[in-house]
Amino acid sequence: MKKRIFAALLALIVCLSTVTGCQKKLEPVKVESTTFAMDTIMSFTAYSWDERETRHLLDRLTDDLNALDKLLSVTREDSGLSRVNQSNGRPVKLEEYPGLVTPLYLALHLCEVTGGALDITAYPAVKAWGFTTGEHRVPETDELAELAKQIDYTAVSLEGDVVTLPAGMEIDLGAVAKGFAGDWLAEQARGAGVASALLDLGQSTIVAVGTKPGGSPWRIGIRDPAAEAGYFAVVELADMAMGTSGGYQRYFEQDGVTYWHILDPDTAAPARSGLASVTVVAPSAMDCDGLSTALFVMGLEEGAQFWRDHPELKFEAIFVTEDGKIYRTAGLEGSFSLAEGYEDREVTVLE
Ligand code: AMP
Ligand code: MG
Repeated sequence: MKKRIFAALLALIVCLSTVTGCQKKLEPVKVESTTFAMDTIMSFTAYSWDERETRHLLDRLTDDLNALDKLLSVTREDSGLSRVNQSNGRPVKLEEYPGLVTPLYLALHLCEVTGGALDITAYPAVKAWGFTTGEHRVPETDELAELAKQIDYTAVSLEGDVVTLPAGMEIDLGAVAKGFAGDWLAEQARGAGVASALLDLGQSTIVAVGTKPGGSPWRIGIRDPAAEAGYFAVVELADMAMGTSGGYQRYFEQDGVTYWHILDPDTAAPARSGLASVTVVAPSAMDCDGLSTALFVMGLEEGAQFWRDHPELKFEAIFVTEDGKIYRTAGLEGSFSLAEGYEDREVTVLE
């Protein structure tokens, strides 16, 4: 009898040590990929038990991304969106580009929700400032007044898969495309069973799929808009997206004045609302992308009121003013902290 108990114990010890040994080997593998799309460098990181399968998934995501770029790009002449922009007032049936219907619909919805602070018909103005070509110029006051008159997303008709733009009007999805792509890719990753991934869509649009392996949230830095590099704060994300819009991201200087790429649809000129950057945290990356652009246009007061008025959007925000003041919404309690070196900065909590 004693012998049997001893044998059983021995078997248990062998078994346990095998399991412990196996656990050591069973650490998830980190799989990474980097690609250039939508005019920026994007990088994806996923943790998985099956490296080959995950590598395959990341390759697929890169293909998806290129396909989305081919649909949504305003600068590629062969894109689905360019086809719409070249329509010269005629209705365009999107049967060749069915993938364009949803992002257009969602973008128009965000324009409406934000009362036109986001307006996807700003493209002629974006072009006039030279932001698409890099040949920057400051348009005259009269030209700006004309351009501002033409910015009006309510003139876009989208019925089923037929889109109609008044002649001369052009759509730019630059303020939301990375977010749309982020949601799309995250959905593919989750559908493939990935429980832990970080999708960095470049220019401050990021989607956290699940948590870090081990269950702790991803920690994402927010760029200090006043510094060349570095983060002033960290936000913890789990199954959540984040997007930042800021004047520092794309700009030019002329005669001592800085002109940036986020335009006020009312003036067709760079939005000067007193903000240096806005970061939005929300379940949807497209909401983060679109809302961060819109809140930058609105400014702090209006933006904070927008946050209070729209609990259904489930977003939180961090505002940095041009004079360096930091404001964050109350829902970020516990997931927002100041970064090293910024601990003494005051943060005003918006309620
Ligand atoms: P983001 O970097 O996401 O804030 O988006 C800025 C980009 O969206 C610009 O480079 C323009 O192409 C475009 N854009 C600029 N101002 C607006 C606006 N008020 N509404 C929609 N798109 C805009
Ligand atoms: Mg945006």
